[in-house]
Amino acid sequence: MTSNRWVVSDLDGTLMDHAYDWSPAASTIRWLQQQAIPVIPCTSKTAEEVRLFRHQAELRDPYIVENGGAIHGDDGNGEEWTLAIGTPHAVLRPLLDQLAKDLGTALQALEDLSEAEGDALTGLRGEALARAQRRAWTVPFITPAAEQRGMLKQLASERGLQVVQGNRMSHLLGAGSHKGRALEELKRHQGKSDALVLGLGDSPNDVPLLEAVDQAVVVPGAQGPHPVFADAIASGRYQLAPAPHGEGWALAVREWLQG
Ligand SMILES: [Mg+2]
Repeated sequence: MTSNRWVVSDLDGTLMDHAYDWSPAASTIRWLQQQAIPVIPCTSKTAEEVRLFRHQAELRDPYIVENGGAIHGDDGNGEEWTLAIGTPHAVLRPLLDQLAKDLGTALQALEDLSEAEGDALTGLRGEALARAQRRAWTVPFITPAAEQRGMLKQLASERGLQVVQGNRMSHLLGAGSHKGRALEELKRHQGKSDALVLGLGDSPNDVPLLEAVDQAVVVPGAQGPHPVFADAIASGRYQLAPAPHGEGWALAVREWLQG
């Protein structure tokens, strides 16, 4: 972590497409690493899942997991460090059932899905699905019907919790943790309050990250950007990447660094 510029990115739907393919961004990731520009994953994924991605992408920079629940890194000598920010899963899990009762509808946690149901929701099987199901700081669950989402958010907030929506499912987490706060904690931890940050995301759970960075980029899917970003893109506050997923990610990153 020597550069003053950081690339902080969501993974699913942003760097990766819906089949978890990030190959269109691979050469740009390598180019960033050659220039010692950190590529910092900031994702809903678990630490186990991100470790595997980091290994495949040959990244050595810190990473933010479970929607800002914790930050992990290593000191260069193989020693891992963790900054815990969120509310532990053991506290959160029973509260999802309480919220379901309050709402009067079942809320189905990712960790309780069968292999076939988990595959249908995430496209993951076997150990890859298990890595996504073993949570430490969040409880992902199947997003309820649109007309119930507002009430669910309100009920969660009354219990000191929050519900955020990712690109495949929703996540229950403590009210105090989100991707933006995790970025601020990471800057403090690294002594880099002056880091110039490019942030990239695709879904409502990325809003706190995009609000916390110097340049925010919305990466669209094949059908265009998520409607939650329409105003921010129209006003120019957020930039829209010129192509979906990894391809748009790579173009936006190169433009930022060369501009
Ligand atoms: Mg996403």
